[in-house]
Amino acid sequence: APCHLDGRWLPLNQAQVSVLDRGFLFGDGVYEVIPVYGGRLFRFDEHMARLAHSLDAVRIANPHSRDGWLTLLRELVARELAHSGQGDQLAYLQITRGVAPRSHPMPTGLTPTVFAMSQPHQPPGADQRREGVACVTARDFRWERGDIKTTSLLGGVMARQIAADHGAAETILLRDSGHGHGLTVTEGSSSNVWAVLDGALIGVPPSHHTLAGIRIELLRELCEEEGIACHLRPIAESELTIADEILISSAGREVLPVTRLDGEPVGHGALRGKPGPVYARLHAAYERAKLE
Ligand code: PMP
Repeated sequence: APCHLDGRWLPLNQAQVSVLDRGFLFGDGVYEVIPVYGGRLFRFDEHMARLAHSLDAVRIANPHSRDGWLTLLRELVARELAHSGQGDQLAYLQITRGVAPRSHPMPTGLTPTVFAMSQPHQPPGADQRREGVACVTARDFRWERGDIKTTSLLGGVMARQIAADHGAAETILLRDSGHGHGLTVTEGSSSNVWAVLDGALIGVPPSHHTLAGIRIELLRELCEEEGIACHLRPIAESELTIADEILISSAGREVLPVTRLDGEPVGHGALRGKPGPVYARLHAAYERAKLE
């Protein structure tokens, strides 16, 4: 597969970076994952705005303009399409601070390492859409700057492994709200989390504890189109156990229904343990949005 490293195109299995790259030594970098449908980058400008936020937060200068990124990523997608024949891809880009002798403070004047690859995107299969996925809950032991999409992902890796150890698809993380309301949902290890309560879709308000998922605004727009009420407000741990539906969203998983939580079926009545109607409508709307 083709990839891009520091201005050059080369096969992925030949791309190499220095062991002194700060991405390797410190996880000192940021990244983005952008879905591609039918060869077209989906929600490109939103991803670029989030990339700018991450870069600003860690004080790395953006190595490309918006149009520079667009040119680079379009070429990447075209090369991957020529290679694999797949127009549905997940484009990955990463910028690290660069190569320098190992020392914690941020050196100035480094040339950032810029890497991009794109891989065929397997959206969730028919079985996951029909059955939903199992999730577990765990305390959110990650750091307090979840708003930065950093390659320092050990917290997310450890969080996800809790789900993997239980044969579940995702770990839904809970943090003490600090306002005497007990634990509230932050997000999944690599997804945002939603609950359906009283017919409304509830998402978590943006904060330094969560990534501003590109699908948050997208699902809000799709709710608007569908006439589904949608609010961002804290979701208490106890609300997960009474929710009619729970959903997760991310670039790779799009929107998926959570039908088991900590081993118990989600929802009520005939729909207990089954994907619900809000999920079904949002999934259909998402599929339409991909084609726009
Ligand atoms: N939170 C975290 C921690 C993530 O890694 C992701 C996936 N990038 C998300 C949320 C979902 O964000 P998006 O919809 O932009 O993929």
